[in-house]
Amino acid sequence: MFLVRKHYLSGISIMYVTHLYCSSCNSHYAPRRLHNLCNCGKPLLVAYDLDRAATTLTQEALRDRSPTLWRYAEVLPVNDPAHCVTLGEGMTPLLKADRLGQSLGLQHLYIKDEAQNPTASFKARGMTVAVSMAKELGVKTLAVPSAGNAAGALTAYAAKAGLEVYIFMPQDTPKANIIECQQMGAHVTLVDGLITDCGKIVAERKAAEGWFDVSTLKEPYRVEGKKTMGYELAEQLGWELPDVILYPTGGGTGLIGMWKAFDEMERLGWIGSQRPRMISVQAAGCAPIAQAFESGLTTGVEIINARTIASGLRVPKAIGDFMMLAILRQSGGTAIAVTDEALLAGVKLIGATEGIFAAPEGGACIPAITHLIEQEKLDRDERIVLFNTGSGLKYLEAFSD
Ligand SMILES: *Cc1c(COP(=O)(O)O)cnc(C)c1O
Ligand SMILES: [Zn+2]
Repeated sequence: MFLVRKHYLSGISIMYVTHLYCSSCNSHYAPRRLHNLCNCGKPLLVAYDLDRAATTLTQEALRDRSPTLWRYAEVLPVNDPAHCVTLGEGMTPLLKADRLGQSLGLQHLYIKDEAQNPTASFKARGMTVAVSMAKELGVKTLAVPSAGNAAGALTAYAAKAGLEVYIFMPQDTPKANIIECQQMGAHVTLVDGLITDCGKIVAERKAAEGWFDVSTLKEPYRVEGKKTMGYELAEQLGWELPDVILYPTGGGTGLIGMWKAFDEMERLGWIGSQRPRMISVQAAGCAPIAQAFESGLTTGVEIINARTIASGLRVPKAIGDFMMLAILRQSGGTAIAVTDEALLAGVKLIGATEGIFAAPEGGACIPAITHLIEQEKLDRDERIVLFNTGSGLKYLEAFSD
């Protein structure tokens, strides 16, 4: 039987965080304190002493560590291993997708199957770290606006940690997300509006209610959890990065996190300066990043009447949009919007060729690949990774036949 060991570094401090820094104005903030946004209103990111981290975090050491994202403990922000709230998240399989690749005309296509995380989406990665840090810093009550999977993940980790949680979701959120939160003990409020409206409610009430706001990029640690996808890709590909990464993008923590992980790994001496082309995949009914990329803008314009069945992509305005757009351009990547019809067809193709019942967000990568091939922006022999970010099982009302 596989037991999740509490920590490899059990009993000692594993604090390599030097400070937090603003993603926009570069102001510095002290570690080991509760933080939301920078005074300038932009997200904070975590800096580590990577030279010190490298003394124990080696490629050899990783071979003996258990298969959760906590294997990268030295580049995660928790100080006392006893505070890690884990359900066994991370180290999801990187599956070679030969039948899907063949049907698309690609030789080296891989699927990073994030549906195999606790609560069946990659939101578990961010929430395991955010809740662990909240616990370490003495928070008692958490709140989040969510389009779906973030709520389920936060509720699960809060339950495990014994913390109280308040969830605000659009009333047309997939039913499975609502039910899982109610069944795991969250206070759930359904809102007649979008995730941005839910976010406003949390922002207005949090001070009076004493809630800690765990919104995407409004606390510094979810992105740290999400960045482990970048570490895992490199480790699973023998310390090489793929040529292309397709990432279904809402708030963009994964995109921002993986890019940060690549920089950290280069400074750890594990990889070179080569980077994958990062492709942001969005839904046509809510594509602020794709539209901004196309128009040459450095931030997104808020989408009015955002609509898509891929609820994780229904983020009309992302606070980290300026970082995403910079990453897409720096990497030589792009952003692509696909219709709901096309992304649902993508779910079917992934399912029928690879045996994975993908979330609609994961399905969106398929028409994006087709588009890139048509535009001659993909070579058939490149190493391409698509992220299936969640499970189709959470979206039963989206599949009519
Ligand atoms: C939240 C979510 C996304 C978007 O993730 P970000 O990192 O916020 O861009 C994509 N797919 C699924 C299934 C999600 O739950
Ligand atoms: Zn700032």
